[in-house]
Amino acid sequence: MFVRVDLTPEAASDKELAKKLAQICPVDIFEVDGGGSVKIVEENVDECVLCELCIEAAPPGGVKIVKLYSDEVLQR
Ligand code: SF4
Repeated sequence: MFVRVDLTPEAASDKELAKKLAQICPVDIFEVDGGGSVKIVEENVDECVLCELCIEAAPPGGVKIVKLYSDEVLQR
């Protein structure tokens, strides 16, 4: 694991955001779960290309990418 994807509870339960994230992530790290919430596909997290599309798609602070090998957090 070289990054961790963090979502606020509000972002995680946002059904519209869940659909958007599932569409935009180029390496399929997000899925829509049975209840319509955001599901992180853990086995794909290491494929993250740090494109920040998920961060831009979410409301400010909703999604963060935490680089586990440094102290850097990608967010807005
Ligand atoms: S930064 Fe890009 S590759 Fe990484 S989780 Fe977000 S959308 Fe997917």
